[in-house]
Amino acid sequence: TNCCFLISFVWHIYIHSMAETPSKPSDNNKLAGKVAIITGGASGIGEATARLFAEHGALIVVIADIQDELGHQVASSIGRHRCSYKHCDVTDEEQVKSLVEWTVKNFGRLDIMFSNAGILGNSDQTILNLDLSGFDRLFAINARGMATCVKHAARVMVEQRLRGSIVCTASVAASSGGRRRTDYHMSKHAVLGLVRSASMQLGVHGIRVNCVSPYGVVTPMTLHAHRKGVEELENMYEPNMSLKGAALTAKHVADAVLFLACNDSEMVTGHDLLVDGGYRIQ
Ligand code: NAD
Repeated sequence: TNCCFLISFVWHIYIHSMAETPSKPSDNNKLAGKVAIITGGASGIGEATARLFAEHGALIVVIADIQDELGHQVASSIGRHRCSYKHCDVTDEEQVKSLVEWTVKNFGRLDIMFSNAGILGNSDQTILNLDLSGFDRLFAINARGMATCVKHAARVMVEQRLRGSIVCTASVAASSGGRRRTDYHMSKHAVLGLVRSASMQLGVHGIRVNCVSPYGVVTPMTLHAHRKGVEELENMYEPNMSLKGAALTAKHVADAVLFLACNDSEMVTGHDLLVDGGYRIQ
């Protein structure tokens, strides 16, 4: 009984000491003072995340993309004091390196890298007619480009001794086979390998690496690929999710990215966070 009493006493002191630690920033200010880069931020999931990061008080969100006009428009609509646009093709290591250097030079640090740029490709193939030049192009962005962004973000975070957060966009395709789009499924499996390895290697520096894995979300990418309208596309995805009564949106994915980017997930690393309305569990 003495022992139980002691444990209970210690526990209560401990739990009260936790309650007394300074409260976290308020709920809508999860990224106060943080500097973030979002690749593929001119459109879709990246754009929704840029808006959410800015709403949550990020010091600056740098949108990096190859769609310059659109990127500038998105940055202006968010507000130039909160958001900047920088051209960066993730297939070119020099451009990724200078994106990170430019960010640190202008804004002093890099706390968050959301490596999200990706393409679906136009390869509606099975393995029997795999188009290898399309395969190379897709891998250069989805797998090699993803690794390049993680590399250069991590290098500067290590250098600056920042406990940064790196988030990648994988997909439900990262952990299942596909009836078609072989190259896309392969490239997203590669993202999981990257996240798991980098999280093990960077943990010693206090840097976290995670990914989000969405199921079908209506974005310019999927609208273009399926040549359907918004509602038609939502109706196509709906039967495959166990959660009914709501469509999966880019904002839902952005909410998950915010969780992984901010301190709410302080001890979460190497994790693949499905945002799929229950698609994968079925
Ligand atoms: P999107 O086409 O709306 O956005 C992708 C952005 O990436 C575009 O702005 C594009 O210009 C940019 N981009 C493409 N190639 C680039 C390059 N070489 N360098 C820099 N930027 C480049 O598509 P989205 O649906 O928002 O996709 C974002 C990510 O989410 C992708 O990695 C995609 O594979 C993934 N994803 C999407 C879905 C979905 O249903 N929409 C589901 C699972 C995963």
